[in-house]
Amino acid sequence: MEQKIYINGKFVSRSEARVSVFDHGFLYGDGVFEGIRAYEGKVFKLREHVDRLYKSAKAIMLEIPVQKGEMTETILTTLRENNMQDGYVRVVVTRGEGDLGLDPRKCSRPSIVVIADKIELYPDELYKNGIEIVTVATHRTFPSMLDPHIKSLNYLNNIIAKVQATNAGAIEALMLTGEGYVVECTGDNIFIVVNKTLITPPPSVGTLDGITRNVVMEIAEGIYEVCEKLFTLYDLYNAEECFLTGTAAEIIPVKKVDGRIIGDGVPGSITSSMTKKFRELTKKVGVPI
Ligand code: PMP
Repeated sequence: MEQKIYINGKFVSRSEARVSVFDHGFLYGDGVFEGIRAYEGKVFKLREHVDRLYKSAKAIMLEIPVQKGEMTETILTTLRENNMQDGYVRVVVTRGEGDLGLDPRKCSRPSIVVIADKIELYPDELYKNGIEIVTVATHRTFPSMLDPHIKSLNYLNNIIAKVQATNAGAIEALMLTGEGYVVECTGDNIFIVVNKTLITPPPSVGTLDGITRNVVMEIAEGIYEVCEKLFTLYDLYNAEECFLTGTAAEIIPVKKVDGRIIGDGVPGSITSSMTKKFRELTKKVGVPI
């Protein structure tokens, strides 16, 4: 069966799925998106993802032409139309078709696209042994440039960072603030463990307000100390453990940063226990498809 894509109120087959070349999402990256996961017939943290989509849209003054309830239903219907119980959903809302100028007022109506697809994970071996990341020259955008809270279609900054990491032979790029504080990776938030305390940078430093990040903080509560705090590469290199979090990657251990082995060089006990609890939760909760 060919994949069915939702575009502006209709389902079309993948080969027929088209947007205009005059869409400002295509011309300027003018739009917002979400990446959502379904596990065993349930959509994980659906409300949180839909809320974040509308917050991103509000921040760029893009009025999504449907209410949150209808958007939620469209996401679920897209999964049903594709007979998917497990997978990844990409929701994209662009400014819509306009002229070649920047002015968003020339765009008639935002375009909504929902794609349900298989999830591409890192290989199993990396979850068992951890990944290697490197710090790159490209900083995360500052809130005064493009607020990193906005999950916008403008990911070029992160793509440049990713290219720098792959050129250096690493799988992920670690981005810093201009002052040298650790922010996050190109598509994942970061945690370190110091004295058995889980530490993650505060969103105010320029991280995306990651939904997996927030779930990890909730799961850890009452078991470990958790804090949002600025930290530097020195703290990271000397941490007991390090892991990344994201909807696609879930929780992935980091074994090496810039050539420095983290902790014992294998996934630590707190990382493993968080992974176990996270996986249990994804099987238990969610909005039924
Ligand atoms: N940071 C960035 C830059 C991201 O793009 C993402 C999501 N792809 C994340 C962090 C993780 O966020 P979430 O857990 O909500 O997927």
